[in-house]
Amino acid sequence: MAANASSNVYLEWRNTPAEKRIQYLFKMKTILENNADEIATICTRESGKTFAESRAEIVRAVENIEVACGIPTLMQGEFSEDISAGIDEYVIRQPLGVGACIAPFNFPIMITFWFMPYAIACGNTYIVKPSEKVPETMTRIFELLEELNLPKGVLNLVHGGKETVDAILTNPEIKAISFVGSSKIAKYVYSKGTENGKRVQAQGGAKNPVVIMPDADVDTTTNIISDSVYGCAGQRCLAASTVVLVGKAKEQFKEKLITAAKSKTTCYGLDKSSQMGAIITKESRDRIIKIINEAESKGANILLDGRNQDVENYKGGNYVLPTIIENAPIDSEANLTEIFGPVMNLKYVDSLDEAIEFINSSKYGNAACIFTSDGSAARKFRHDVIAGNIGVNIGIAAPMAFFPFSGWKESFFGDLHGQSKHAVEFYTQTKVVIERWYSEWTRKF
Ligand code: NAD
Repeated sequence: MAANASSNVYLEWRNTPAEKRIQYLFKMKTILENNADEIATICTRESGKTFAESRAEIVRAVENIEVACGIPTLMQGEFSEDISAGIDEYVIRQPLGVGACIAPFNFPIMITFWFMPYAIACGNTYIVKPSEKVPETMTRIFELLEELNLPKGVLNLVHGGKETVDAILTNPEIKAISFVGSSKIAKYVYSKGTENGKRVQAQGGAKNPVVIMPDADVDTTTNIISDSVYGCAGQRCLAASTVVLVGKAKEQFKEKLITAAKSKTTCYGLDKSSQMGAIITKESRDRIIKIINEAESKGANILLDGRNQDVENYKGGNYVLPTIIENAPIDSEANLTEIFGPVMNLKYVDSLDEAIEFINSSKYGNAACIFTSDGSAARKFRHDVIAGNIGVNIGIAAPMAFFPFSGWKESFFGDLHGQSKHAVEFYTQTKVVIERWYSEWTRKF
């Protein structure tokens, strides 16, 4: 039904001048900003993250709306005059039709806005499917967006899990799909969507390494990395997961990292003291604990144990406290797969080459960061590491809205990414026109 509504209004929307379409986006930005506290409260209640983290999502969403407001320029084509005598050739960009976004649970606000504002600014109509684990936040956002008075069907919200996703993947009216979620489902969505003739971009899971060189600034680096590992309780595709300490960095950083992790206040996200919130479901919590148990049984040391700990005033809550393990065996889940929890995995190596070799052996390629005061080490890292987002003295390499949100290997299936000009190219197709006008014809009229 959403696809039909979207398809019915498509021609009207596509024929609305871009300048008029973006007026709706200006209002959309204001609606999000004016209602930020309410939206962030709902987001925190249902996702478990802290209020500050939910608020930060809205900032990111708004940034993307702002970039998409540049569509009259971003959608401009190219023109060549006189490719042959009296003949001109040019490229124009046109929308695709109905687009759809399938989002994960961990950013109930932001991720939809990596795609949706660009899609509708380009003249597509759109369907949003949030994660069934966090349906309320986007439901409220859509209620608020009714104030836009968009033509009916331009923006549609659908809920559900696999069945809804499969309906999107097979519906002939839907021409383009942006997916964000785990690698297994990203691969499935990419192959099934493209099999059905759709344009698909599918962002998958991640396991992001952070390398600390012995010359890194100790206090700043420790604080940044601690936030990077434990922000969103580690349920973040850019979360640092394995911290690779090179040479003497082990002596300088190990105890500092433990102290910083211990200082994090974990509790209900709407509690003002909360620095780290809850895990999304009991199943996810059990899975995280199982991964720590397995690493321990295979010989890893648990330096800080966040398993099965009660949180004051929130006993029985769905929490895992900050955890640090060292020397997770090469074949353990903790070393190989995305934990998606507040777990820091310490690994010790002797050289930057060894660190890079370790990073490049991963099946994921979302992000990797280095902390150093040596420009040549940073340059080598940027050049040699096989990952789509690189941070240098930055813990979370989250691209601004005017850059693509990259990702390589099993962290991304497709070609063009979300955000920026990439999103514009993804949600448009090019038409090449070769044009000749005979002067004799003109004279006849
Ligand atoms: P998920 O893969 O379980 O779900 C994502 C979406 O797919 C949801 O909308 C869900 O309804 C749908 N889905 C779930 N199972 C399905 C199935 N069998 N068939 C079809 N559709 C299905 O992911 P999640 O647990 O909601 O989110 C966490 C994952 O998302 C992590 O792996 C994280 O790294 C990843 N993520 C990646 C990025 C990125 O930019 N690369 C950003 C955020 C999250």
